Amino acid sequence: MEKIIALAKRRGFVYPSSLIYGGLANSYDYGPLGAELLKNLRDIWWKYFVHKREDIVGVDTQILQRPEVWVASGHVSAFVDPVVEDKVTHKRYRADHLIEDWFEKNQGKKINAGILSIEEMAELIRKHNIKSPDNNDVTEPRKFNLLFETSIGVVEGDKNLVYLRGETAQGIFINFKNVLDSTRVRLPFGIAQIGKAFRNEVTTGQFVFRTLEFEQMEIEYFFDPANNWRQYYDELKNYYYNFITNIIGLSEEKLRWRQHSAEERSHYSKMTEDLEFKFSFGFKELLGYAYRTDYDLSAHIKHSGVDLSIIDPETKKKFVPHVIEPSIGLNRLFLAVLENSYFEDDQNERVVLQLPFVLAPYKLAVFPLLANKPDLVNTAKKVYHQLTDEYYCYWDDRGNIGKRYRYQDEIGTPYCITIDFQTLKDSTVTIRYRDSMKQVRVAIDKIKSFIKTENEKIF
Ligand code: ATP
Repeated sequence: MEKIIALAKRRGFVYPSSLIYGGLANSYDYGPLGAELLKNLRDIWWKYFVHKREDIVGVDTQILQRPEVWVASGHVSAFVDPVVEDKVTHKRYRADHLIEDWFEKNQGKKINAGILSIEEMAELIRKHNIKSPDNNDVTEPRKFNLLFETSIGVVEGDKNLVYLRGETAQGIFINFKNVLDSTRVRLPFGIAQIGKAFRNEVTTGQFVFRTLEFEQMEIEYFFDPANNWRQYYDELKNYYYNFITNIIGLSEEKLRWRQHSAEERSHYSKMTEDLEFKFSFGFKELLGYAYRTDYDLSAHIKHSGVDLSIIDPETKKKFVPHVIEPSIGLNRLFLAVLENSYFEDDQNERVVLQLPFVLAPYKLAVFPLLANKPDLVNTAKKVYHQLTDEYYCYWDDRGNIGKRYRYQDEIGTPYCITIDFQTLKDSTVTIRYRDSMKQVRVAIDKIKSFIKTENEKIF
């Protein structure tokens, strides 16, 4: 993890936020390379789930909504973490995490403390005298709501409380009827959204795995509950797994599905699974996959008084659709991708980010072999400008060629193109592969088709 964080900072993927003012816990800014990688992840996700499927459409809803949305969804009353405070340092910790760590360290047992009640947690903390990581006593656990509050209005006393959304899903549910009435979708169909979500997280120090502000990519897939839910559940699950493994390229050995037990599952869910990725700090949730029945739509019907049920045009039967929800954090996926692609090639004394072509921030780098030879530089500039029509390319004429290669390896650029003296004679260039370091010669007017053929089909 330290190595990934160092690389991320050194090469402009991720910086700690507000650093010149001492930093802000659990907050990160993304630099030029990070912004590209995030964008590539967003774009490919949207293409794969929205554009490639005739049964899923996208929306973009607000971060601020009416507070009733969050009352109806249960977030105001139940979106809480059990928190204890170190009595000396006043740092706060998740009580369930402290208990889990204690059992692992002292009894070699992996337990799931998240399913315990607040009283049961308090009892365990007392019984085993569980301390904070700084070895101080902690307070009784208390419930801590994760929703961020803010207010609308300028005049003190005349302000209305609103919440920053804790997930993007509710924006989908409250627009379910709008989408149904304004488009030609018919059940079964899905609504997808990418957007920021906010949670007042207590646990610190997990880099971009857990932050206060993050992006979610969520789909709500609606269907008639008279049909077998399992077919929709399995189809979308397999489709998603293909995205994670074949499109994004996460290694299958680093992935596992973990089914929630009945106690851990929300009361309304018939089945919930997490797709876990083996991060450098262990297997952790990357994607939540849940069959949520009609819980959310029914809750909004109840609280808003608006009928969100639908009538089957053929049978005239009226019902509230059920829903399957895959939910993933973009920033968590970003971290998984970085960890998955980080490779120390000791033999060649280099670090390589083996990113898939579709994710790499820069697809190509173009170099004149020597910066002080105008013929080389001019030809290289021409090649560079031809290629930037289609690909995001890096121009580099500084330092020696070996250093330039190492730099591109570290930021994951799949191909480096060098214009050398032979180019001036026969209009061919050297293309070097990032992973194998193999070099081939290709005619200038064939570069685009060469790159295209190599990376043709991703779907
Ligand atoms: P965790 O148990 O890790 O807190 P969760 O079960 O609360 O996650 P969900 O509510 O299911 O998470 O949210 C869906 C997805 O959003 C998660 O799988 C994760 O990828 C992402 N996510 C949730 N909280 C955060 C966060 N604080 N920072 C970054 N990503 C997050």
